[in-house]
Amino acid sequence: MRFSDIIGQERAKAFLTQVMAREKIPHAYLFTGIPGIGKASTARALTAALNCMNPEADDSCGVCATCRKIRTENFPDFVKLAPEGQFIKIDQIRELNRALSFAPNEGGYRVCFVERSESLTDEAANSFLKTLEEPPPGNILILSATEPLDLLPTIVSRCQRVPFRPLTPEEIEQYLMEREEVERDSAVVLARVCRGSLGEALRMKDSGFLEARQEWLHELMALVKVPPEKALPYALQLAEGLKPLGAQGGDRARGGLQDLLETWANWYRDLLVLKTGGPESIIVNVDFSQKLKKSAKSFSIKNLIHSVQIITQAGQDLSRNRNPGLVLEHVILALRRLCEWRGDPDRILERNH
Ligand SMILES: [Zn+2]
Repeated sequence: MRFSDIIGQERAKAFLTQVMAREKIPHAYLFTGIPGIGKASTARALTAALNCMNPEADDSCGVCATCRKIRTENFPDFVKLAPEGQFIKIDQIRELNRALSFAPNEGGYRVCFVERSESLTDEAANSFLKTLEEPPPGNILILSATEPLDLLPTIVSRCQRVPFRPLTPEEIEQYLMEREEVERDSAVVLARVCRGSLGEALRMKDSGFLEARQEWLHELMALVKVPPEKALPYALQLAEGLKPLGAQGGDRARGGLQDLLETWANWYRDLLVLKTGGPESIIVNVDFSQKLKKSAKSFSIKNLIHSVQIITQAGQDLSRNRNPGLVLEHVILALRRLCEWRGDPDRILERNH
C-alpha cells in the first residue's frame, strides 16, 4: 500500500509526508471522517513509507519484502485494534499497552491503528491516555473516528488531527471503472448513491444492491398507480419480499431495508431538485432522469418534502430496532396516501395521527 494508491485525500497525504521528513516524528494522530474513505489504507501507507527498505522520495517502493508484507497483511508491526462487539474494552487496551512495551519486531516503526475509537469505553480511554501521551519508543498511534466530538477531549488534545473528506462522485466512479472493472453505467450510479464513501460503494457493488435498486424504484413508481383499497395488500406483499433478505438474521433485513429507504429518499430528493429548478448535476438517479422528469410533474414541492420526511422517520424507527416488515408497511401506506392528495398534504397527515 503506497500513498499513491490512495484516492483523493491530498491534504492528509501531504501532511503525513511532511511530518515524516521531520527529525522527530509525532507519535499520535487522529484520523477523522466517515467510514470507507481511506483512513485505514492511509495508516498502512504510512507504515510502509516508514519501514520500506528502498523508500522513494515521499513514498514506499511497493515491491520490497516489507512493502509486500504490509500489502498482504502479514507485517507484524502493523497492529489493528477494533471494537469487540459494540465497544473497545479496557482488557483490549491493557493487552495493547503490554504489546507496545516490547520493541518493534522488524526494528523500524510499529504503527498501531485504532478503528472506531469513539467506541472506547471511558475506562478504556482513560487507561490509554498515558500511552497516547508518551508511547514506548518506536511506536506510532493512529486513532480513527467519524466525529472527534464523540471522543474525550483529553484524547483529542493528545493527537495531531488529520481530517479525511468524503470522496467526489468522479473519484469513486474512476476508481470503480479502473480498478474494479465496473461498467460505466453502474459506476456512475454507485458513485452517486454511496454518499462519498468508497467502502460503501464497494459494499453495494458486491451485495446485489444495483439489481435490488432497480426493483425498489419500479415498486415505488408503481405505488402511485395502486388503487387505495389495494394499498394494504401491496404493502404486505412488498414487506413479504424482504423476508428472503432476513432469512439469515434480522440484521440483514434491517440492512436491506435501510438501503431501500435510502434509495426511495434519493428518488424524492431528486424530484425536489427538478421541481425547484436545482442543478441536474446533483441528481443521484441519473439513469432514471427521463422518468424523474415525467414524475416530477405530478407532485407538489410540499408533497415531496413530506415524502422525504416519512422515509427519514422510517429510517430512525428502524435504527431503534422496530420490526422491519412493519416499518416498510407503514412507509408504503403513508407514501400512498400522499399520492392521493395533490393539494396540501398537511391535512392528510393530520388525519392520520
Ligand atoms: Zn518497499
